[in-house]
Amino acid sequence: MDLNLTPEQLQFRDELRAWLQSNAPQPWSGSTAEEDKGPYFEYLRGWQRKAGEGGWAAISWPKEYGGRDAKLIEMAILQEEWARAEAPPLINSLGLYLIGPTIIAVGTDEQKSRFLPKIVSAEEIWCQGFSEPNAGSDVASLATKATLDGDHFVINGQKIWTSLAHVADWCLLLVRTDPEAPKHKGITALLVDMRSPGVTVRPLRQMTGDASFNEVFFDNVRAPVANVLGEVDKGWQTAITTLMNERANLGGGISILFKRNLDELIERVRQTKRGKNPLYRQKLAQAYIELEVFRLTNMRSLTRISQTGAPGPEGSILKLQWSEFNQRFQQTAMEALGPHAQLWGFDGGRWVFNYLRARANTIEAGTSEILRNIVAERVLGLPKSY
Ligand SMILES: Cc1cc2nc3c(=O)[nH]c(=O)nc-3n(C[C@H](O)[C@H](O)[C@H](O)COP(=O)(O)OP(=O)(O)OC[C@H]3O[C@@H](n4cnc5c(N)ncnc54)[C@H](O)[C@@H]3O)c2cc1C
Repeated sequence: MDLNLTPEQLQFRDELRAWLQSNAPQPWSGSTAEEDKGPYFEYLRGWQRKAGEGGWAAISWPKEYGGRDAKLIEMAILQEEWARAEAPPLINSLGLYLIGPTIIAVGTDEQKSRFLPKIVSAEEIWCQGFSEPNAGSDVASLATKATLDGDHFVINGQKIWTSLAHVADWCLLLVRTDPEAPKHKGITALLVDMRSPGVTVRPLRQMTGDASFNEVFFDNVRAPVANVLGEVDKGWQTAITTLMNERANLGGGISILFKRNLDELIERVRQTKRGKNPLYRQKLAQAYIELEVFRLTNMRSLTRISQTGAPGPEGSILKLQWSEFNQRFQQTAMEALGPHAQLWGFDGGRWVFNYLRARANTIEAGTSEILRNIVAERVLGLPKSY
């Protein structure tokens, strides 16, 4: 790849840099504890609204939907500049990176004009209702069913691990509409209003203390047929589009976050005697190398999307890399910072939170075993597993 910027790309970078300089908010100094997360949430929502108005929230989307038709290099520039400005993340991440692109790919014109602008502005927050108690890795085993009643589907069943459902306005929900068909063939993707009568959301508390995902129950919930995303009984294709975007898109934002964590840890270790200790030096050098490899794989994934319009198996490689890297890195941080890093009172509990939260990395968005299966099959050409 030629990463020398052209005059147009330099102009793009300078415009973004200037915009971030005058618009990025002060870092959040209040609490992020679960019980008083409301103000922090509104701070993030306000920030995304501003980024949307400036045309910076969904730059890879087509211009007509509030994007900039941005190419690979512009997306890479955006990630770098966001990190440089230490700007907060965008709150409606599932809408921007997973569900919005799926609506753009297979939605009707009405769905595009109804939903996309409010995803960009964060006026409507989205969640993804795929997993169920008996359908996680094998999500096509899902049992939540929807039956046709006039011009509505009536939904009954349960989802689990639904991130952001407690604050979401809308859900991209997978339901079984043909129980007789083979399991991949009787599924439909529906856009469901989370305020519909019959929707119950129960938060699940994690070992970090947060309750950022939920059980969601559907009891005779009605959703109009006009809210089918893609075709009835062909929701598996819609789901694959979403899952591929999930694995491919999470990488960019995360690499910024990891780089910040790594730089901070290096700085702290440099200031102590541990900076001379061969054990930590080796681990930090290794972390730097792995993060650089991850950044380049991320570029490769973006190249693929910009050339073919669709993410490829690089998305699975990327997800494997960042999730396993982060678990190793958080372990290194705990060792290098010493026992007080385990205290919630040290650095606002940031290190212990990151360490505990990283355990979920190799489960969310596809477990490591499932991703290695995908690489074995689609990249190495091995036959399907049993
Ligand atoms: C932080 C977090 C956020 C999440 N957010 C959402 C969300 O917003 N929406 C949503 O729908 N879901 C969400 N999930 C759920 C997530 O997608 C599932 O947890 C994941 O797909 C695994 O499913 P499972 O937990 O049922 O585990 P299982 O599928 O039961 O897997 C159990 C174990 O068996 C292994 N295994 C399963 N099948 C195979 C196989 N064929 N070959 C080899 N090993 C196998 C797995 O790797 C795993 O180790 C989230 C999960 C986490 C941790």
